[in-house]
Amino acid sequence: MSNSAIDPFAKPLPSPDPDSLPLWEGFRQGKLFLQHCKDCGGIQYYHQASCRNCQSENLEEREASGRGKIHSFSVVHRAPGPAFKNDTPYAVVLVELEEGPRMISSMIDTNPDDLDFELDVAFTTEKVNEEISLPRFRLA
Ligand SMILES: [Zn+2]
Repeated sequence: MSNSAIDPFAKPLPSPDPDSLPLWEGFRQGKLFLQHCKDCGGIQYYHQASCRNCQSENLEEREASGRGKIHSFSVVHRAPGPAFKNDTPYAVVLVELEEGPRMISSMIDTNPDDLDFELDVAFTTEKVNEEISLPRFRLA
C-alpha cells in the first residue's frame, strides 16, 4: 500500500495556477471576480493570462454582481465516484451571469426538482478547507 494512492472517497480539488490565483482568492472571500479587457471590453470567466477575444493582457479584475440565470442544468443521480455518493441527486448548472460569461457550477441548498431554465440564481461559495472555497449557486 502506498501513501500516495488516490483516495477514491476524497473529492478532487482544484489547484490554482498563477493566472487563476486571484479568482480562487476571491472565492475564499466569498466573491466572484471577472476579468474585464481594457482594450476590447470583453468580460471573461475563467481567469487566464490574456483576453480570449483579442489576446490583450490588459485585463482588470472586477467583482461580479453574483446574479445570473440558469441557462442549462443536469441532475446527477448516479455519482461519478464514491466521493460524490452522499451528494446525489445534485444539480450541475450552466449559469449565465448578468455580466455575460457563463460558468459551470452546482447548486447548494436546492432541491433539484425545483430547478428550471431561466431561474434567477445567486452566487455563493462552499468552504472546503482554509485554501479552497468552491463556487456555488443557490436560488435567488
Ligand atoms: Zn480583449
